[in-house]
Formats: sequence, C-alpha cells, structure tokens
Amino acid sequence: MSTFDTLGLDAPLIQAIQDLGFTKPSEVQQKAIPILLGEETDLVALAQTGTGKTAAFGFPLIQKIDPSRKHTQGLILSPTRELCLQITNEIKLYAKYIPGLHTVAIYGGASITEQASQIKRGAQIVVATPGRMKDMINRGLINITQIDYCILDEADEMLNMGFYEDIQDILSNTPKEKRTWLFSATMPKEVSVIAKKFMNQPVEITVGSKNSGASTIVHEYYVAGSRDRYQALKRLADAHPEIFSVVFCRTKRDCQKVAENLIEDGYNAAALHGDLSQNQRDLVMSSFRKKQIQMLVATDVAARGIDVDDITHVINYQLPDEIETYTHRSGRTGRAGKEGVSMVIVTRSELRKISHIEKIIQQKFTLKNIPTGMEICEIQLFALANKIKNTEINHDVDEYLPKINEVLDGLTKEELIKKIVSVEFGRFYNYYNKTRDLNASEPSDRGDRAERSEGYSSSNADSVRYFINVGSRDGFNWGTLKDFIRDTVGLGKDDVYKVDVKDSFSFFNSDTTAKDIILETFHEFKVDGRFINVEVSTEGPGNFKGKPKGKRDFDRPGFKKSKPSFDKGGYQGKGGFDKKKKFEFDPAKKSKRRQGFG
Ligand code: ADP
Ligand code: MG
Repeated sequence: MSTFDTLGLDAPLIQAIQDLGFTKPSEVQQKAIPILLGEETDLVALAQTGTGKTAAFGFPLIQKIDPSRKHTQGLILSPTRELCLQITNEIKLYAKYIPGLHTVAIYGGASITEQASQIKRGAQIVVATPGRMKDMINRGLINITQIDYCILDEADEMLNMGFYEDIQDILSNTPKEKRTWLFSATMPKEVSVIAKKFMNQPVEITVGSKNSGASTIVHEYYVAGSRDRYQALKRLADAHPEIFSVVFCRTKRDCQKVAENLIEDGYNAAALHGDLSQNQRDLVMSSFRKKQIQMLVATDVAARGIDVDDITHVINYQLPDEIETYTHRSGRTGRAGKEGVSMVIVTRSELRKISHIEKIIQQKFTLKNIPTGMEICEIQLFALANKIKNTEINHDVDEYLPKINEVLDGLTKEELIKKIVSVEFGRFYNYYNKTRDLNASEPSDRGDRAERSEGYSSSNADSVRYFINVGSRDGFNWGTLKDFIRDTVGLGKDDVYKVDVKDSFSFFNSDTTAKDIILETFHEFKVDGRFINVEVSTEGPGNFKGKPKGKRDFDRPGFKKSKPSFDKGGYQGKGGFDKKKKFEFDPAKKSKRRQGFG
C-alpha cells in the first residue's frame, strides 16, 4: 500500500500532511502526484468530487514553487468563490512549513483593491474565480505572464457556468511554456475541447470509470405522485433522524418554496439559491457547516460551491434537466471515502430517466419504498430510545431531583419510560398514524388513480365516503372490514360499500342516511385500547388540493421541540401506543418493514 512517503514529497509537506491527519494518499493523489513531481507535463485528471483533488495538485504545485522568488508562479482557477476560498485554505495548510510561500484568493463580491494589495505584497500562488481574475488582468492589478503552472479545477463546472471565454482570455495572458493541469469530475465534450485547444499532449488519468459516481455512494429512487413530492421528502427526512443533507430543486422558486415549507413544518432547513445576496449565502453556508441546518435546499448553480464533508444524503427533489448534473449532485455526499446516499424522488413518467442516469454513472439504482407513517414512527421511536440511552447526564438537575421525584411519585419504571418516550414521540405518532402510502410504484398504481378519481365522486348527496384508520396491517381485507363496520354500527347487509383497504388505513362508503350513526358509533371508539377513527373523506384519497388544515395535518413532526401537540393531549388521547396493538415490535415483522432504511 502506498504512503505519502513513497510519492516523492519533501519533508515540510510530509510534516503538514501528518498534521492534517492524512494517513494514506487517495487514488487520484497516488496517480497524479508522482506524474506532476516528475517530468514537466500537462495533465488531465478525472475524478469525482471528494476524492482529494486539491491535494493531488496542491502538493506538487507547492513543491515546485520557488518561495524565495516573489512573483506569481502558480494560478489555480476554480468556478466559485466558496471553492476558491476552500482551496486557498487547504493550500495554506499544506504549505504551513514552507516559509515565504504566500497564497492569495481572488474572487468577486469582495474588495478588489484589498485583493490587489495582497497580490502586490507577493503571492506565488493565486487561487481565482475566472470573472474576478479577468477583471484584475484588465485593470493591470495582477501579472500572470510568468507563471509556470496553471490549474483548472472543476473544469466541467467552470464551463457549465459559462466561463469558457474568460478562461480563454486569462490563458492568453499566460506564457506558452507553462504547464496546465486540468481536474474535472466529468468529461463532457467542452472539457475535451479545452484539453485539445489549450494543452500540450496531456497525460490522462482517470479515477473510477469516466463520468461515474464515487463508489461509496448508493443511489436510490422513490416513486411518488407528482403532488406527493413534498410529503415524500418529509418522510425520507423523518425516516433518517440524523440526516444532514442537500436537497436539490430545479428552480429558485421551488427551492425557496420547499425550504419555507420545511421550516414551517419544524425542520432545520434553509434555502440556497442565486436570489440571495452573497452575505445571506455565506450565512446559510456557515450554519450548514456547523450543522445547525440539517436540510439545505439548493439549486444546482448555488450548490456548486458546497464542499462540506459528512453530508449523509443528497435528495433529488426533482431530477436535474441535464442528466450530467446528477453526478455533481450526488458527489456532494460520500466524500473522503465516507458512505453516502443519493435519493431521487421521481414520478412514474420520469422513470426512464433513471435508466438513462444509470448508463452515465455506470451504477445501478435501487428502487425503495417511501416509508409509511408507521415505519417512520417506529424508526423515530428507536432513535429516541437510543438518544435517551446515549445522553450524558446533566448533574445540574440533581438538586431538583427530590421535587421531581415527588411529581412522578407512584409511576412504575415502565410507565415512566412510556411517558417520557411519548412526550417526544407523540408528534410523529399524531402526524403519521393515519397517513396513506405514498408509493406510486406498486402494481396497484392504476388502481390508485382509479380510486382517486372515484374519491371525488364518491361523496355526493346520496353517498358519503369515509376514512378509517385501520387497514391490511391490522388484518383487514375488504370483506372483513365491511363486516366489522356493519356489525359495529348495526347496519344492514349492503349498507357499507366501496370498501378500499390500504396498508394502514381504508376508505368506505355508506348512504348519507347512515352518516350520523356511523360517525357517532366511531366517536371515541376503542378496540383493545386503540382508537378506531372514522372521518368523512372530503376528497378522494391522495388528493390534498385545497385541503383545509385538517386533523391529519394538525401537527407536523420536525427537529425542533416546542410543538405543543402532546400537551394538548393529542397523543395520549389516541392511546394506540399503550396497548401495543399497532406498535407490536415483532422483530420479524420489523426487519421486513424496515428494510431499506436501517
Ligand atoms: P475534491 O477536490 O476531489 O472534491 P477535496 O480535495 O476537497 O476533494 O478533498 C475532500 C476531503 O478529503 C477534504 O476534507 C480533504 O481534506 C480530505 N482529504 C484529501 N485527501 C485526503 C487523504 N489522503 N486522506 C484523508 N482525507 C483526505
Ligand atoms: Mg475540489
């Protein structure tokens, strides 16, 4: 196994690498560093984001620079201000034991005179965005006519962002004999054009297969109705209590809307898009880095600068217009050898795009089920139990303990546990206990649609459609549910009809004349301690258009505390948990139900 010592790096760099805690070079570093340290050559390196490209060019560049000479010797072009700053910081860390070596960042949105004076003081390495760089050249504030090395980092992104002409102009100010090192995640036609036009017989290295995603990323897709996208997004987040994610939307408007909805629903979310000022974007990014934001909702353009490690999930709220963009999105997770998941919410009509992407990334997607409400409750319940178990005890509470003991006097340990868990868990239970299956991928999809349109017409002057919170999971099929309702209410043989049993809830119809007796019978009606709830279904199931903020939506789970639902008695009133009817944590059943987001 190769180490940094065998790559030909000098002692000051090795020392800095140790400080950084890098133990072993990444693949692109292993391949690129010896080439770049060896004979002078141009290079094209293709590697995914998060594979360590900065060091792959940074180490050799630093070693080749002569710090005793003050003029600019190396120029790194990078697509965004954020990346530019990040590369600058990294290079400074790498070069910390090399006295006299100065690195300066040049980017838009900050004082050009300040940047110019930094350059004037001497910067052997300049890291720049193309726009500002061109500006400075035009104003004579920088001299790059003597550089030895030019690095085009994230070349594909720079071209995507329309910097082709700027790059061309900048390069025309550099000496012919310089060496050009091009780094890119993908190799679209435009990048090969650059390589041909501006480079001299470059050595080409590829990490992984061309255009493919990093192998530590798992790709999943979830099929939902187009109106259910947002609900599906929430479920994906709720099924991963520790999520730290970027959610990609296609437009600024969608981005803003989704972020606002998430915030309103209690999630730690924020939007990142081009309509925000630079200052606002910086604030958002800094909160995201500190993990104060768990869901960053971004457009592709705005997300270009995101180089945050530890992102657990990338969620494609919508697929990008350009399939190539998918690689960039998914590359935001699975960085530095960590595992990551890239999730895509698609409608049935978009399914063929999935196979298209599979071809490009040369990796397979897994079809996953959007978790049901009860699965989420289960996951959240266990997450909460674990959180309680792992919480360090705060001894400041010790002095209150006698009083607290008084308050809780008479509760058994078991009751106490149930109550503590219910306090937090109630939010999820209240929200999810009656929700429907969002998956549009089942063979029953056509049935679903039929049911939807039927749903509209099913409640009319003569007939009423109801929602009931039991389903096949409770052991009902249409026949037994029909009998159960009929017998419970005391109705005649054909009084209950159009029974449609779903996983955890069902629908049925009765004549309007039976409406009052049905609703009355099921008012605060319990079986085995579990409330069986019947409501008039005002719309077809699955159609939330124009839906008033009704019971089913009355509380939303999220990451913030302070939702008062439990205090209102919502959870306790439902009583389902206590009797374990629905929450039978049968291990066999659980593993089956939970597969896919364990
Ligand atoms: P890329 O430019 O390919 O997207 P970066 O250069 O930004 O990737 O590196 C991604 C992360 O991996 C950074 O946090 C970086 O510090 C870290 N990293 C780079 N090389 C190594 C290594 N050899 N060992 C451990 N971590 C590394
Ligand atoms: Mg990079």
